[in-house]
Amino acid sequence: MSDALTPQAVWTQMLEGNRRFVSGDPAHPRQDVERRAELANSQHPTAALFGCSDSRLAAEIIFDQGLGDLFVVRNAGQVISDSVIGSLEYAVGVLGVPLIVVLAHDACGAVGAAIDSTAVDAPNLPPYIWRQIAPIVPAVRRVIREEAAAGRPTDHVDAELVGREHLRHTVADLLRASELIAEAVAEGRVAVVGANYRLADGEAVPVVSVGDVDDAHAA
Ligand SMILES: [Zn+2]
Repeated sequence: MSDALTPQAVWTQMLEGNRRFVSGDPAHPRQDVERRAELANSQHPTAALFGCSDSRLAAEIIFDQGLGDLFVVRNAGQVISDSVIGSLEYAVGVLGVPLIVVLAHDACGAVGAAIDSTAVDAPNLPPYIWRQIAPIVPAVRRVIREEAAAGRPTDHVDAELVGREHLRHTVADLLRASELIAEAVAEGRVAVVGANYRLADGEAVPVVSVGDVDDAHAA
């Protein structure tokens, strides 16, 4: 089982893999025939990753991980749902992962659509797309309120600020919704790190963390 690894040890491993990817020197570990055979009857992933579906956020590639390493859940804009919570509870409760990484990214199309939807003349979106991005709208409204309170213009909403706010909301919503995950965090068995992936340089930058994991690099 992966419970020999602490949340911190797993996060350090993932940051090291991301550093190799950023520098253009990936190790492509654990992707061979032997690894495939070794995993045929069981999986023991080291972390769960819940991220945006954006094609540029390919989880194993950007963290330079291998087959069987990451339990991955993704949807457009990394929006919490029953299905997402159920999958992450499975990763924690059954597979025993010590770390959940929630991965957002800059220039996210779902965040942009949520911002556009708040315009007074915004066109109606197809219903399933609207349902997917509606949970991001509170982050848009909060950024508009904070900008207004600081005396700054609110006619142009900063998508990066909204993206980070939505990421914080997502981590908080996950812990509020899932008793199983909140308990595991309280007992020190699991940590949750919210990170923002930068498309241009490939770096996953921690923004928020909960649990026993070093967030000294959090921005
Ligand atoms: Zn996205």
